[in-house]
Amino acid sequence: MTTRTADLLVLGSGIAGQTAATAAAEAGLDVILAEKTADLGGSTVMSGGWFAFSDTEEQREEGEEDSTELFLKDMQEVGEFRNDPALLHAYLDRQDAAYHWLKEHGVQFREIEISSGQSAKRSHNTAITEVMAGLHEQFDTAGGTTLREHRAVRLITDASGRVTGATLASSDGEIDVIARQGVVIATGGFTRGNELMEIFAPEQLAAIPFGGKGNTGDGLRMAWKLGADMADMSFVSGTYGSHPETGHVHELLTAYYMGAIIVNRAGERFTDESQSYKTLGRAVLDEEDGLGVQIFDADVRAKSHPGIPLKDMEAIESLGHLHHADTLEELAEIVGIDGNQLVQTVARYNRAVADGTADELGRESLCNGIGELRTITKAPFYAYPAKSLMTTTYCGVKVTPDAEVVDVEGEVIPGLYAIGEVVGGFHGAAYMTGTSLGKGAIFGLHVACQAAERSGTSDAGAAA
Ligand SMILES: Cc1cc2nc3c(=O)[nH]c(=O)nc-3n(C[C@H](O)[C@H](O)[C@H](O)COP(=O)(O)OP(=O)(O)OC[C@H]3O[C@@H](n4cnc5c(N)ncnc54)[C@H](O)[C@@H]3O)c2cc1C
Repeated sequence: MTTRTADLLVLGSGIAGQTAATAAAEAGLDVILAEKTADLGGSTVMSGGWFAFSDTEEQREEGEEDSTELFLKDMQEVGEFRNDPALLHAYLDRQDAAYHWLKEHGVQFREIEISSGQSAKRSHNTAITEVMAGLHEQFDTAGGTTLREHRAVRLITDASGRVTGATLASSDGEIDVIARQGVVIATGGFTRGNELMEIFAPEQLAAIPFGGKGNTGDGLRMAWKLGADMADMSFVSGTYGSHPETGHVHELLTAYYMGAIIVNRAGERFTDESQSYKTLGRAVLDEEDGLGVQIFDADVRAKSHPGIPLKDMEAIESLGHLHHADTLEELAEIVGIDGNQLVQTVARYNRAVADGTADELGRESLCNGIGELRTITKAPFYAYPAKSLMTTTYCGVKVTPDAEVVDVEGEVIPGLYAIGEVVGGFHGAAYMTGTSLGKGAIFGLHVACQAAERSGTSDAGAAA
């Protein structure tokens, strides 16, 4: 067996692993980045590219009022107070450093938006594939080593239980990488890991599998084998809003945050549409065929934002997945739902909105308490049939705010770090848009800074 040494071994090349690898290499560490698949970027390069940050230049330019206090409150409310406050505070305390680090590394935040779980415009959009290509190029320039198609299969420990490296498998056989400053697991979630899904969330097997091709939960299993504790395992949920025939390209529409309602095959609403799309993802699985049809009118259609993920109705129309008709009855017939019931549902909804009376499902806003409800009245009417897409799992190993993996007795497993989607305890019951890319960058940068400090590289401060 071949053995290689490095200062830091990073497993997985998504936003978390790539940020850690680039920052550590730039701080002077000898870094190996191991990626299981031929392509870099995992779920990250398939994502909408939204990062959640508060108190930014972009927010100030638009006069958007936001604060770390409001951000914290939103994350806790979305997570139903199940999230670990220490991790949330770590995010908020370090977000400014990561935001500036990304900008210094060429990232442009081209638009800000309010999205799922937010009560201020806090999602900052990026061209994520370019972001990742740029970060990887800077890793190369800083002397980092990338091993593609090298799957980490085992963690290596010494006699004291410290993690000293990992075994990587490739078509050439296995190599051991010994890493002086530890191993960083950044292997993403297990959206494609049916075995883990069977164990933790079997009902979610009904959602459409999505996310990075290599995301089968390898990192979680390797840490589990060493006794790692876990968090949020019962909150796995797909994201509501993708056409049943969605392909490899990310297709998701959140017309419900612009004023649409969601109905089942019986033409009835079944949940408060202003909730997190993860919560909606859970709710829709109880409906016939796991289907929820977004129904809206010409006014909402006019709010489409071409080129912007979740809001691009033109793109969805070009795929033939968005239907329209002059009447609700015709529309119902096209998409195979009960027309009479749909007419009644829309009439009841419109009455409640117009009269300002309580909605039968408790909906009070467009999205998470923000935005006035609007009636569905102006033809043509539109329908987008959608299911839950298994984009992310957002649960996994427990960590300290310094990303050290903690075992089932609350003890740190020395030498082992976890960042990104493989971590549990951050989101709690549901997720706020932008906090996954955000936490990947924030904790990735932090882990790199810590490794650089431990190793005493002269330019360790450069990572921050
Ligand atoms: C369609 C979609 C849209 C999304 N939109 C957003 C958004 O706008 N904002 C947001 O915050 N979040 C979004 N998310 C979620 C977010 O993209 C992910 O949670 C995040 O990118 C995960 O980053 P990561 O670095 O932890 O993992 P990933 O980006 O998934 O990277 C993990 C990498 O590890 C590799 N790997 C796995 N096992 C091994 C192994 N054994 N050895 C070596 N490598 C391994 C994988 O192949 C993969 O490349 C979206 C997700 C999807 C799917």
